[in-house]
Amino acid sequence: MTARHWIAIACTAIGLSIDGCASWHATPALPSRSHMVLDQLDIVSDTPLPQHHRLLEELRAQRQMLSTKLGLPLSEEPIHVYLFASGEKLAAYMRVHFPGLPARRAFFVESDTKLNVYAYWGDRVAEDLRHEVAHGYLHSVVPNLPLWLDEGLAEYFEVSRGLDGVNRPHVDQLTADPQRPWQPDLERLEQLRDTEEMTQAEYAQSWAWTHFMLESSPQRLQILQGYLQTLARRQTPESLSIQLRRADARYQQNVAQHVSVLHQSLR
Ligand SMILES: [Zn+2]
Repeated sequence: MTARHWIAIACTAIGLSIDGCASWHATPALPSRSHMVLDQLDIVSDTPLPQHHRLLEELRAQRQMLSTKLGLPLSEEPIHVYLFASGEKLAAYMRVHFPGLPARRAFFVESDTKLNVYAYWGDRVAEDLRHEVAHGYLHSVVPNLPLWLDEGLAEYFEVSRGLDGVNRPHVDQLTADPQRPWQPDLERLEQLRDTEEMTQAEYAQSWAWTHFMLESSPQRLQILQGYLQTLARRQTPESLSIQLRRADARYQQNVAQHVSVLHQSLR
């Protein structure tokens, strides 16, 4: 018998109260009312799903976009997306089924046999779903993705199409205090093993490194693609900090410069 285990990525989206006062007389159930399959996505919602929904089509298109950008194969493994009608209903479900998880707006949970996304229809549902579904697409082809890179990629793909992955709140956070500029340290991020170690600062830094590799030069893009492709073949790649340093001894200064240029362009 294989022990069932799961990995949950509670992600950065804070704002869901697990300690609400809703009372439940029965075990909270998964959404079941409306069902739709969009390629790899198997979506179930408590509220009716329209046949053509811009956000859902965007999530479907993210599959090919992510595969092309990262040079990864497509997978057919289903990603189950459960959309609750409210934050209270999601919180009640998560409290019973994943009592150890912190309070978040949305979750990605990988078990031995399933890739599951849990979210709810709220003001930030588009960003939340783009983020969590990106985790799903990644996990369906890349095993053992380091935590920081998993989150960095999800933060890159959570922004709406046309913004080239520029996550403005992260740019603002990294450039907020000119007296204390960001001191990049990729080796420190590479040591992170637990989502509880990831504060907003770690999410912002993970996004910055990811955006730097994806958007600053063809050579860095190739390094990231090669790294992910090695993991996808179930082999162990050399760390990204070593590979980036070998290509460019000033890589830490250059990632800070990359964010600084983005900051200037957004003013
Ligand atoms: Zn995440």
